[in-house]
Amino acid sequence: NWVNFSTFFTNIIDRLEMSKKEDIIFKRDVPRTAFYVEIDEDKITQVLYNIISNAMKYSPEGGQITFRIREADEQIVISISDEGVGIPKNTLDKIFERFYRVDKARSRNVGGTGLGLAIAKEMVVAHGGKIWAESVEGKGTTVFFTLPYEQEQEDEWS
Ligand code: ATP
Ligand code: MG
Repeated sequence: NWVNFSTFFTNIIDRLEMSKKEDIIFKRDVPRTAFYVEIDEDKITQVLYNIISNAMKYSPEGGQITFRIREADEQIVISISDEGVGIPKNTLDKIFERFYRVDKARSRNVGGTGLGLAIAKEMVVAHGGKIWAESVEGKGTTVFFTLPYEQEQEDEWS
C-alpha cells in the first residue's frame, strides 16, 4: 500500500500523545512534504510503537521526545530521540538482538522481554530499510530507520 509517510507518522504520534504520561513532551520536526512509501501499515505501526514505547519508558520526568523525518538519497530517515538514560556504546548493536536487555538491574522497574527492537529490525529490513541507534549515556538516545520512497505517487501518471 502506498502511503504519504508524513501524514501516517503524524497520525501515529497524535495517537500516542493522547496516551502518554503528562510530564513527557512530544516535539515534531516533520516536513509537510509528501513522501510516498510502499509499506505494510500494520507492520510499520508496530515498528514505530516499539521504538516510541522505549523512548517513553526510558525518559525522565519532563523529558522531551523528538520525532523527525529527513531525506537522503531515495530514502527517508525517520528518527525518534529521547533524553533518557542512554545506552552504552558497546551494546548499541546488541539491542536489536532477540531478548537482549541492557543491564537488568537498571531495567528492573521497567518491564519488557527484549523483543521490541528485534521485531522492529525484522520488519524494517523486510521493507528494504536499515535501523540503528546512537546514544550518549546520561544524555539520551536516538533510534533511526530508513525506508525507500518515491517523490511522486505512482498513479499520478495514469
Ligand atoms: P519489550 O520491547 O519486548 O517490551 P524491551 O523494551 O526491554 O522489551 P527492546 O525494545 O528490544 O526490549 O529494547 C532492548 C533494550 O535496549 C532495552 O531493554 C533497553 O535496555 C535498551 N533500550 C532500548 N531503547 C532504549 C532507549 N530509548 N533508551 C535507553 N535504553 C533503551
Ligand atoms: Mg521495548
